[in-house]
Amino acid sequence: MIAPAPAGRGDTVITIDLSGRHAVVMGVANHRSLSWAIAQQLHRAGAALCLTYAGERLRADVEQLASRLPGTLTLACDVTEDRTISAVARRLQREWGSVECLVHGIAYARKQDLEGKFVATSREGFQIALEVSAYSLLNVTNHLLPLLERNGASIVTLSYLAAERAVPNYNVMGSAKAVLEQSVRQLAWELGPKEIRVNAISAGPVSTLAARGVHGFVGMLRHHAERAPLRRNITREEVGSAGLFMLSDLSSGITGETLYVDAGYHVMGL
Ligand code: NAP
Repeated sequence: MIAPAPAGRGDTVITIDLSGRHAVVMGVANHRSLSWAIAQQLHRAGAALCLTYAGERLRADVEQLASRLPGTLTLACDVTEDRTISAVARRLQREWGSVECLVHGIAYARKQDLEGKFVATSREGFQIALEVSAYSLLNVTNHLLPLLERNGASIVTLSYLAAERAVPNYNVMGSAKAVLEQSVRQLAWELGPKEIRVNAISAGPVSTLAARGVHGFVGMLRHHAERAPLRRNITREEVGSAGLFMLSDLSSGITGETLYVDAGYHVMGL
């Protein structure tokens, strides 16, 4: 809901009110995660939250973060296991009965596939990267569909420019992001009649656990800051607020889109 709030001098201030909405945020590993930046904004806007984490290893950290956002559920969900995705769907059916916002901030490729030669990517490495980083968007959406179609919903995933350009060392993750962005368009078409919107945010480089796994990441940060029109890198908070916009009714006419939050880097030709 977009609520007009009274303001001084006869102005109208638009506030984003997501109270009564339920948001599932996948991919919070720690306080640096882009999904965490979006979760914080959703909480500020009044949404009820469920953070999912990949496995036991992350449980304590994610529970500790969730405690900063009162009322937040935390559930384990390894997207390579249908069993755990189904368990999350069943639990949310009992707890909430509907999901209006879904954040998919999940990606993984083996370390050797983010530093060696792309041409030498193994069959298994290719499959793992695409399964975790792209297929999971379809699979999670499918498992949550009865909840997402209850009131209509907005789904946001996180992508990167390597989906459409050659980026040194990004290798198989670029392939996964290309599939992810195509999946966003295809899902948007298929789920549009159910009032479910599907979009991607293509973020510039931000120092996170996953990003640090890309060989030469620090050089990427420097390069982006020098070349981007805004002459700086983006902040995780900027991804958080763009996520809030895409998950709220302010973006109600937008679906199948890739929104660049990259200080303008993608427009450059030189
Ligand atoms: P992050 O904090 O490391 O988040 C990545 C998340 O994916 C982690 O929580 C990770 O859990 C999770 N994940 C990996 N395998 C999983 C599985 N099998 N099941 C469930 N979750 C799994 O890094 P991030 O940078 O915020 O990444 C979030 C998204 O933003 C990714 O899609 C990334 O490609 C995208 N992105 C990042 C940047 C950037 O520069 N940071 C730029 C553009 C796009 P584990 O830690 O347990 O593996």
